[in-house]
Amino acid sequence: MKIISTPNELKEYLKNTQQSIGFQANQSIGFVPTMGALHEGHISLIKKARKENEIVVVSIFINPTQFLKGEDLDNYPKRDEADKQICKLSGVDVLFFPHAKDIYTEDEVSILAPKVRGYVLEGTSRPSHFDGVLTVVMKLLNIVNPTTAYFGKKDAQQLYLISLMVKQMFMSVNIVAVDTVRESDGLAMSSRNIYLSQQERREALKISASLYQAGKMISQKILDTKIIISKMRETLEPLEISYVAILNRDFELARHVEIGNTLILVEAKVGTTRLLDNLWL
Ligand code: AMP
Repeated sequence: MKIISTPNELKEYLKNTQQSIGFQANQSIGFVPTMGALHEGHISLIKKARKENEIVVVSIFINPTQFLKGEDLDNYPKRDEADKQICKLSGVDVLFFPHAKDIYTEDEVSILAPKVRGYVLEGTSRPSHFDGVLTVVMKLLNIVNPTTAYFGKKDAQQLYLISLMVKQMFMSVNIVAVDTVRESDGLAMSSRNIYLSQQERREALKISASLYQAGKMISQKILDTKIIISKMRETLEPLEISYVAILNRDFELARHVEIGNTLILVEAKVGTTRLLDNLWL
């Protein structure tokens, strides 16, 4: 596995690698962007990329522009050596590990999240968060120039906005959505789970429990989203709920669940840690 830290070196390396394996326009590159502290959720993205592509590139970059003032940028978990091992064992060809100075300069062109769908849900409590996410994803996609990039369904709004950016900016990368990987008790895996105390870890289970409950109601043909949301809110008590929302796949509020076109999203604070989860129906 090759480890590279500058964009130009990576571009050069990928060009040469493609040529050395007999450059055909269809040597595919699968790309998995991450912020590190890798867990089974990340690994499932990497494995899918490995299965579907000739070359697999993973990036690890804690992107400063997507953190707001007072958020956990300085404390965000770092596991550099373990992450390198995980990538090596998962069959990654190239690990891109840039420093902020390799990605950002002084006076930057701005990429802004859409004014409506970038500022609801996660974007309400974290205005400008998605500006930073879209900016870094645009930069990383331009550096790696992958055939396909893999993103987790766990971060549903992020996935939606990246897909929207790719479409609206006429970018030619395929975006693939990968199912959420959970702990055996249902908690969605997240690099931030390590912030939880034992007690908080138990309380955090209310988040996945509220989604299972919604799924159960829907299987009993209760499709009115108001009724489902109110039951979910009860299950989430006493957590501090940021939002519980039921949307269609265009990220518009839904009055009724429609199988194949519905997304249920939850964000709640457990102690000081905000945790996301969702259910795709
Ligand atoms: P992060 O390192 O948190 O920025 O995540 C990098 C990628 O991994 C994103 O596309 C996430 O949506 C995805 N991801 C994070 N947690 C999970 C999970 N539990 N299951 C599947 N994908 C995940």
